[in-house]
Amino acid sequence: MDSLANLHTEMRACRLCFAAGHAITPGAIFSGGPGARVLLIGQAPGVTEVEAKRPFNAGSGKRLFQWLGRAGWEEAEFREKQYMTAVTKCYPGKGSNGKGDRVPSKAEQALCRPFLEREIALVNPQLMILVGGLAIKLLYPAKMRLNEVVGTAVYFPPETLTTPVNFNFHDGRLITDLPTLQSLLSSLLNGRLIVPLPHPSGASLWPNKPENKRLINQAIQMLATIRATLL
Ligand code: SF4
Repeated sequence: MDSLANLHTEMRACRLCFAAGHAITPGAIFSGGPGARVLLIGQAPGVTEVEAKRPFNAGSGKRLFQWLGRAGWEEAEFREKQYMTAVTKCYPGKGSNGKGDRVPSKAEQALCRPFLEREIALVNPQLMILVGGLAIKLLYPAKMRLNEVVGTAVYFPPETLTTPVNFNFHDGRLITDLPTLQSLLSSLLNGRLIVPLPHPSGASLWPNKPENKRLINQAIQMLATIRATLL
């Protein structure tokens, strides 16, 4: 029988990307254990995450935990009780232009995908927070732009959760405003909610634009409402 402890041992020992010639630094970065009710998925760890051996350690983490703090989660509490992982779990290195980290290739994402699916199946979270474009594309249609996604949530009834990551977006209910989420929450007890956030990297200017700040505020209000009602 699969267990998180076994999975974590396998992930830490994994060298699949390295063996396939992908330019990664082996050493999977994730945190959390059984009992987490929130599972947060980022893109991939950065170099400071590798040094500290914890997800969202540095600048990106500062902004992310400001957002989560406004939703009601203290950083220490969130790190202790919830689960944090990424689409790919090893540091991909710098991008070719030298600015920011390389986006993991589709081949790397495919190699790491079974780990993500097992994490989701074993944690079985009530809420998943998708942070950044790569994580958001696990669920939302690729053609949807970030400003159409941030500020929404998707609810999956229990009967649709048979395949943990390969959600069919159309099996879920897209929620685009806070009053609808509030009115639905009392009947959403056994399924799973998904809330996307933009990538919190300081290299991204998207969160600084006033029209996008409004979308982020709505996402934070949704998270705060879910936290207060369900978690
Ligand atoms: S990114 Fe995932 S699949 Fe690739 S080596 Fe790291 S743990 Fe293994």
